[in-house]
Amino acid sequence: MDKQILEKLEVLQGDITQLDVDAIVNAANTSLLGGGGVDGAIHRAAGPELLKECRTLGGCPTGEARITKGYNLAARHVIHTVGPVYSGKPRDKTLLTGCYRNSLQLAADNNLASVAFPAISCGVYGYPVEEACQIAVDTTCGFLKDNPAITRVIFMLFSPADLKVYEDYIRTQTG
Ligand code: ADP
Repeated sequence: MDKQILEKLEVLQGDITQLDVDAIVNAANTSLLGGGGVDGAIHRAAGPELLKECRTLGGCPTGEARITKGYNLAARHVIHTVGPVYSGKPRDKTLLTGCYRNSLQLAADNNLASVAFPAISCGVYGYPVEEACQIAVDTTCGFLKDNPAITRVIFMLFSPADLKVYEDYIRTQTG
């Protein structure tokens, strides 16, 4: 993997709602009307105006993404994407790839330079983090090659175990 691209990636552990970036990505569900996990945390931190805007969007199909303002968050925007419920079929990968690509495309279309992702689908939706991490990193690096205006992508992991999976995978890419 290209060193200049890998230098734009950061892997951190903690709460994504605390990040001061142009956009944080929400692992939402198709209704976009809130849920548990990172979705609940983002809505709590952003305040009720976020749900109000989400209601105007009419949901979001799995693998796609929608953008809103960030309201009370330090982040200026929230990009809501819907990961697949893990089934073990090849389509999971296609859909999760779509989540990363479509989220980054929205960031690029809105002239955003910094984006933070949680481990989409790796909570209640059951995606094995080792597989999801490779999709996240590979898709992001591929996108950044063609979109130099995005200068910083943070992968914000909630658990030390997930953090290690990402650090180890990125290390194998630096050679
Ligand atoms: P999904 O339904 O897509 O699996 P979840 O919210 O259940 O979404 O989990 C996605 C990932 O987000 C999990 O790895 C979970 O540990 C993590 N997570 C939960 N809360 C936060 C948070 N505040 N910041 C960052 N990551 C979080």
